[in-house]
Amino acid sequence: MPTSTNSAAMAEHRQAVEALRQSYRALPQGSPVRLVKRTSNLFRPRRAPDRATGLDVRHFDKVLSIDPVARTAEVQGMTTFEDLADATLAHGLLPPVVLDFKKITLGGGVVGTGAESSSFRAGLPHDQVREMEILTGDGRVVVATRDNEHADLFHGFPHSYGSLGYALRLQIDLEPAKPFVRLRHVRMDSVESWISALRRITEDRAWDGEPVDFVDGVYFGPDAVHLVLADFTDRAPYLSDYTGSKVYYWSLRQRGADFLSTRDYLWRWDTDMYWTSRLFGLENPVLRRLWPRRARNADLLRRIQMFDRRFGFTSRVRRAVGRPFEWVLQDADLPAESVGEFMAFFDAEIGIKPVWLCPMRLREPISLYPMEPGKLYVSLGFWWLVPTSPDRPADYLNRLIERKIAELGGHKPLYSTAHYGEDEFWRQYGGDGAYWRLKDAYDAGRRLPDLYDKCVLAR
Ligand SMILES: Cc1cc2nc3c(=O)[nH]c(=O)nc-3n(C[C@H](O)[C@H](O)[C@H](O)COP(=O)(O)OP(=O)(O)OC[C@H]3O[C@@H](n4cnc5c(N)ncnc54)[C@H](O)[C@@H]3O)c2cc1C
Repeated sequence: MPTSTNSAAMAEHRQAVEALRQSYRALPQGSPVRLVKRTSNLFRPRRAPDRATGLDVRHFDKVLSIDPVARTAEVQGMTTFEDLADATLAHGLLPPVVLDFKKITLGGGVVGTGAESSSFRAGLPHDQVREMEILTGDGRVVVATRDNEHADLFHGFPHSYGSLGYALRLQIDLEPAKPFVRLRHVRMDSVESWISALRRITEDRAWDGEPVDFVDGVYFGPDAVHLVLADFTDRAPYLSDYTGSKVYYWSLRQRGADFLSTRDYLWRWDTDMYWTSRLFGLENPVLRRLWPRRARNADLLRRIQMFDRRFGFTSRVRRAVGRPFEWVLQDADLPAESVGEFMAFFDAEIGIKPVWLCPMRLREPISLYPMEPGKLYVSLGFWWLVPTSPDRPADYLNRLIERKIAELGGHKPLYSTAHYGEDEFWRQYGGDGAYWRLKDAYDAGRRLPDLYDKCVLAR
């Protein structure tokens, strides 16, 4: 088990960093640098990384040390949240923000600004980071903290999606955890009452006089907006299991309370990749039994979906039977007060249900993602195919959503397809010129593709 005295792991890490720096220098000039890593959670079709010209970071996947007294961990950038959580839970600790899929990595989570149910109190993944060791686009390895000479990179790294450099090691905070989690499911009859309950919970860190450590929710319809409240506990009268025949999100409507092991709570959305396993019929009890349990996870489900999109199977079949559709797989990060208006628009124009709701409050500002620290936002996640008509542009619905998000003062994370024009994109994600200042400071030779190239043009 890694501990604070694990200096051998640090020495090995330093050697690996030096070797990586050399292989980065040796990469052919002129072709875009791509990471070679085991997993990904991007939802935009793109070329598979080429092992010959890619940067192989697969071995940067370890927890180097944990200091249970200082409650910190030294973690390599490509360590999955699953490995990280397992290592820290062994000490009765967890990172304050553990993202929802097992195979999201710590570095990927920081540059992708994801949220989870602790984000209403703990912020986004970058908020738990104390320092980052980064291989920059110009081939240096720098250590960035919130107040050293690389503070500009520290604050500009979240939402940079690997376009400024790659995080190789991160020192993060940890917080105490307990073995079990108690859940309470509360149905609200409107988005407005959901938001006002959320505001109270955010202030009080409690509901009905009981503590709240985690909050998320699911919108099933305008009069069925569920709050899911959870708190750590040392004892559980029973434990539910949603990795087998039962489906987690169904339970939110079927029962008022529940108990899960902390580990199962962390990965409650991983088994069925929220509810998108429906695409493969996995809510059918017979098919669910036939589908091997170990193959029910977001990593595999995403790979199958991306394979299908790349070769256009579903698309061709749907067009052939006269039922064209558009993929809408997105999150929208909106100020809490705009969620009601967005959902009214969304129900009228798009109609995907359910929608995941995850409150978040940033602690530290991010230069490239204009959210105000301390203000309450909600991340809305919707992932499905939506009927469209052949006379519409192929990205008609996605554009409609992008425009509505901007109109309401929100932003969307860029893990999926993005359809912005270039000027519009830089107005939203350029941080008033901060992005190009960072590019000049850390990747003046433009060795790494820029944010627009990566996230919109999928280069
Ligand atoms: C259906 C779906 C739902 C999602 N919902 C959520 C959600 O609710 N909450 C949430 O938090 N996130 C969510 N995500 C997004 C996910 O967190 C981000 O895409 C995240 O960036 C993926 O991290 P990864 O480690 O898998 O990185 P990858 O997918 O491998 O890479 C993502 C990007 O990050 C860059 N990158 C990867 N590692 C590093 C590093 N160490 N340093 C610098 N750059 C790096 C890559 O170059 C790439 O541009 C969702 C994704 C999907 C597909």
